[in-house]
Amino acid sequence: NKNIGVMTSGGDAPGMCCVVRAVVRQTIASGCTPFAVYEGYQGLVDGGDMIKQMAWEDVRGWVSEGGTLIGTARCKAFMERAGRLNAANNLVEKGIDALIICGGDGSLTGADKFRGEWPSLMNELVSSGKRTEEAVKRFRHLNIVGLVGSIDNDLSGTDATIGCYSSLQRICQSIDFIDATAFSHQRAFVIEVMGRHCGWLALMAGVSCGADFIFIPENPPSENWEDEMCSIVSKHRAMGKRKTTVIVAEGAHDMKLNKITAVMVKDLLAQRVGLDTRVTTLGHVQRGGPPCAYDRMLATLQGVEAVKAVLDATPETPSPIICIVENKIVRKPMLDAIAKTNEVAGNIEKMDFEAAMRGRDAEFSE
Ligand code: ADP
Repeated sequence: NKNIGVMTSGGDAPGMCCVVRAVVRQTIASGCTPFAVYEGYQGLVDGGDMIKQMAWEDVRGWVSEGGTLIGTARCKAFMERAGRLNAANNLVEKGIDALIICGGDGSLTGADKFRGEWPSLMNELVSSGKRTEEAVKRFRHLNIVGLVGSIDNDLSGTDATIGCYSSLQRICQSIDFIDATAFSHQRAFVIEVMGRHCGWLALMAGVSCGADFIFIPENPPSENWEDEMCSIVSKHRAMGKRKTTVIVAEGAHDMKLNKITAVMVKDLLAQRVGLDTRVTTLGHVQRGGPPCAYDRMLATLQGVEAVKAVLDATPETPSPIICIVENKIVRKPMLDAIAKTNEVAGNIEKMDFEAAMRGRDAEFSE
């Protein structure tokens, strides 16, 4: 009979509530006891009422809730060892043997660090007199399982992160709304979507909405992109298109890493092509609202698998993350996936775009 904690951390994503629901209920169905850690790592560091035992009915209706009802936070204290020592002390106090964390790469990196440090944190609790040797005996090993919750679909090793399809759906719906007015007035719209390092949302929204031009960080446009974009847009107009849609990921840049902004693109379309052009920054509507069916399914299947992974784990098993690869729910070593993700982002920062794309290709062919 294990006590299993579940928390949501980092940027919120649709489907996180669904994860909590699945973990709570699968934990109970497995004869164990679920706990929710409120406000991400802040709740672990603060302890007390921030870590609550959950009952079956506590998560009723959470399948369709947006955001995360147990809260999320960015927690500076957890970045320091002193904060992690408090977190460890609180977990021992509540008797929690395993943690299931749904978050982005930052949250999962923190989780793996915490697990790696765990034996030394236990020693420090004993040597500082906070806990007796007897009290920590049961907690010599911390079991951690990660679930990737992110609207950006930016983690290597999984085909989809929890939340990305809901966000994509929201973007497409918003562009459909904008298209109606764009068509009526023959306007151009430059739409900024989220994605600092990863252009998946921009790319897929472009494909799904018939955009004229897309800017994403992984594949910067050619040096004469201004001419290229204007000529493509003009060609589409000459063919009878009444509206123009250009999508810019928030992290878009040129080959020299100069930022490409929606306003720059708007000025070009207005001045060079002569189009009545507006900018729409979709902002946080991309994050909110109920999860789409795919995210509900993904969150539920992965939440169940996470509890199974906790129950299967031995002290030797590396912390897993639960992924989906070619429609199968699989476990992968958490650190490998994070290392690969950082490698791709690092290659973009080093302007080695070919290596970045090779990294992405390798990820898809895995
Ligand atoms: P995301 O999980 O969405 O990538 P962040 O990068 O903001 O979001 O990370 C969320 C939280 O995870 C941080 O506020 C911090 O508490 C914790 N965290 C992130 N990186 C580390 C790290 N290297 N060591 C310890 N904790 C970390």
